[in-house]
Amino acid sequence: MSHVFPRHSKLNPPVAVGGEGCYLIDSTGKRYLDGSGGAAVSCLGHGDREIAEAIKAQIDKLAFAHTGFFTSEPAEALADLLIEHAPEGLDRVYFVSGGSEATEAAIKLARQYFVEKGAPERGKLIARKQSYHGNTIGALSAGGNAWRRAQFGPLLLDVSHIDPCYEYRLRREDESAEAYGLRAAQALEDEILRLGAETVMAFIAEPVVGATAGAVPPAPGYFKRIREICDKYGVLLILDEVMCGMGRTGTLFACEQDGVAPDILCIAKGLGAGYQPVGAMLCSGEIYDTIANGTGFFQHGHTYIGHPVATAAGLAVVRALLDRGLVGRAATQGEKLMAKLTERFGQHPHVGDIRGRGMFRGIELVSDRDSKTPFDPSKGVAGKIKKAAFEAGLICYPMSGTIDGKSGDHVLLAPPFIIEDDQLDELTDKLALAISAAI
Ligand code: PLP
Repeated sequence: MSHVFPRHSKLNPPVAVGGEGCYLIDSTGKRYLDGSGGAAVSCLGHGDREIAEAIKAQIDKLAFAHTGFFTSEPAEALADLLIEHAPEGLDRVYFVSGGSEATEAAIKLARQYFVEKGAPERGKLIARKQSYHGNTIGALSAGGNAWRRAQFGPLLLDVSHIDPCYEYRLRREDESAEAYGLRAAQALEDEILRLGAETVMAFIAEPVVGATAGAVPPAPGYFKRIREICDKYGVLLILDEVMCGMGRTGTLFACEQDGVAPDILCIAKGLGAGYQPVGAMLCSGEIYDTIANGTGFFQHGHTYIGHPVATAAGLAVVRALLDRGLVGRAATQGEKLMAKLTERFGQHPHVGDIRGRGMFRGIELVSDRDSKTPFDPSKGVAGKIKKAAFEAGLICYPMSGTIDGKSGDHVLLAPPFIIEDDQLDELTDKLALAISAAI
């Protein structure tokens, strides 16, 4: 009997024993094409020797030094590299061990910034429905996924959730994408005014929505307008690129494509590419300086923040992304993936939408294309696709989610950027098989 506390005690997961490029291998020798990079993690694929060597070299030199006493060479070098390539205005990097820790830290930093600035009345956070920001209590409070939040209601913070920017479901037929983008952003201004602008500290959003929605990109102009609204009312903009960042959408940071820079940016997943658990929160010089010139102490921290081995892995990963041209490859292979998905599923009676950017793609499943009617949740379509795909040797990331009952099942695809054309064919073939088996 296993003593591991599994994610799902009714499943009996195989034992993963190896990883080679785009494949994972279990103890029976079965190979699985990693079509979702786990959960948009494995951007470099598995078994990358260069990253393994960098980790080994760091462990041999220095495995751990507590950040209460020290900084470290890899943490300094990775922070420099990230800031060199980060959106304008971001100036400091706070390293953590994963995505939830990054968003949790961002929420606390926003609050402490206003306290130190002499505006303690600013304590309200606005987020969006159908978003995911992590599973710790603060991050879960920001998330808008009803299913994940349900039983924890009494513990959650009071966060406002506005409608997401979700063209397929929420754009009116008589509306252009641009007009919809502006209308969707207006929801933020309305909510700020409803709450009282002087009480709002921050707005948090994923530039391209991942786990809860299946790679939903923003409408054109949406984030530019969001940035203007935040500036108008002195509200901080927190962008959560835990899933969509680190080259996944075809640019190092997803928000580059929307022409905006946040005040706080959260990254994780692709930063360690699965080789080490590492995430980061980047913040503006103005936020950092306010605290540095005030108490001088961000009231936060975990034992393993800025871990030398984790940051050495992150440094090797970011260098690999940049030096091997993998961000550009995510863009070009991502276009090929989109073309293959469109060819295969463009006329499929149960595929309502195919979307995303770069190596971050999603398809939304419907029982009827014309009316966009979702499947009855009791059918468990997403779960059945996941199971059928896994049996066929494909790892993909199907989920179901709802905003006011309007959406249903989707499949998220986020393969390693190194994926070859024939592996993209294998991915679409196996996905088609799984969808046929499930519906
Ligand atoms: N934010 C986003 C956008 C995510 O997709 C996730 C995880 O899927 C998280 C935060 C939480 O990250 P982690 O699971 O590393 O805590």
